[in-house]
Amino acid sequence: MLTTLIYRSQLNTSCKSIGLEAIIEKAKRRNSELGITGILLFNGVDFLQILEGAEESVIPLFHRIREDKRHQGVVELMRDYGPRRRFDNVGMILFDLRVDTPRSVLERVLRYSKLDSYLTSDDRVFKFIQTYITRPKPQTIKGTLFSSGDWQLEAEQAPFDKSLPLQPNQPCQFAFQPIVEPSEGKITSIEALIRGNDGGSPEQFFKAISSEDIYKIDLETKAWAFSLAEKIGIGDHKIAINLLPMSLVNVPDAVEFLVDQIGKYHLLPEQVVIEVTENEIISGFHQFHSAIKQLRAAGIGLAIDDFGSGYAGLSLLTRFQPDKLKIDREIISNIHLSGPKQAIVKSIVSCCTDLEITLVAEGIEKLEEWYWLESAGIKRFQGFLFARPQLNGVGQIHWPRPAC
Ligand code: C2E
Ligand code: MN
Ligand code: MN
Repeated sequence: MLTTLIYRSQLNTSCKSIGLEAIIEKAKRRNSELGITGILLFNGVDFLQILEGAEESVIPLFHRIREDKRHQGVVELMRDYGPRRRFDNVGMILFDLRVDTPRSVLERVLRYSKLDSYLTSDDRVFKFIQTYITRPKPQTIKGTLFSSGDWQLEAEQAPFDKSLPLQPNQPCQFAFQPIVEPSEGKITSIEALIRGNDGGSPEQFFKAISSEDIYKIDLETKAWAFSLAEKIGIGDHKIAINLLPMSLVNVPDAVEFLVDQIGKYHLLPEQVVIEVTENEIISGFHQFHSAIKQLRAAGIGLAIDDFGSGYAGLSLLTRFQPDKLKIDREIISNIHLSGPKQAIVKSIVSCCTDLEITLVAEGIEKLEEWYWLESAGIKRFQGFLFARPQLNGVGQIHWPRPAC
């Protein structure tokens, strides 16, 4: 099927020996053999590349380009299918904004296109080209690109007691995972993730419970999370717990129970954040609303978990605004490679900045992901890169530090 793929990238300046002309000559031959049209725009700093051809040729070629050390900062912007080619010539054509004016480049690109102007005016591909040509040229690439050699991870033992043994009658365990602010080198809170006594996942733990008991047990087990938090000595750190919203609605006096247990283990309600997932909030919103009021009145914080994984999206924030919003791992993973993910996260950052909602990016596994998100204005992170959840305790934390 006819596929169009657009990406932006930069020349790897550390490969000094490569010239742009040589790359284009080679690409011209390779693309011709594959029946691919390449339109390359360059402004002296970054590239915009359009590849058009059969899907079986374009996608493997793009994978090779991504692996090619001469390119850096390759970000996919668009992948789409269409009924006809926009450009006839196979091979590679360079449009160089260092040589020609934006106006003449745009005219030349349109001349190369075999589509009528009414087909190009609303076409996303041409809009990408037009925006690239008319935007101000980025000043420099320095500081905008991640380079793995510039960073290293430094392990540090968390300032909490080591893992605790199981207590008598303990119905479940908790694995604690810190949420960190690497720019400040500090732990901002610790999330308590439920585990079975065999160490099994939350899913397995809840599967073994009959459906009428789930909410009660979900709520009551949180007392063990508070108890463990006190025992490991969380001090004035915050603790985040996960709850099904219905555990607050269906169990009588649920909020009172939480407030009592928080006090019993010498924590403050302001130290506690309850995380609920986006979909659960929406499906039981009316009933949940009164529970939210009670939580707020008690001083307990609220976070939307897995934001972006559900169907509500940003419109959820018109209904209620949490203290914290945690962006789902699905959006975070490989964000440094994906234009659509980057655009979505930028809009979440802008929205949460206006509404003074603290953002957390979860599921960070790569330095590249952290670096992109930190540059986009996110300060708080949770993920295996920084710390793995540890049973009944808090494990090592790995801080990214500039390599000297
Ligand atoms: P969650 O609240 O979004 O918790 C984060 C999950 O992602 C945890 O899985 C954690 O181990 C995992 N995780 C953290 N960093 C990374 C990473 O870098 N990469 C990957 N691949 N995974 C990462 P876990 O512990 O299996 O929990 C799954 C879900 O179960 C939680 O997702 C939460 O929604 C739910 N849950 C946990 N404890 C409770 C609880 O006490 N009550 C209720 N109702 N739900 C709970
Ligand atoms: Mn959570
Ligand atoms: Mn989550």
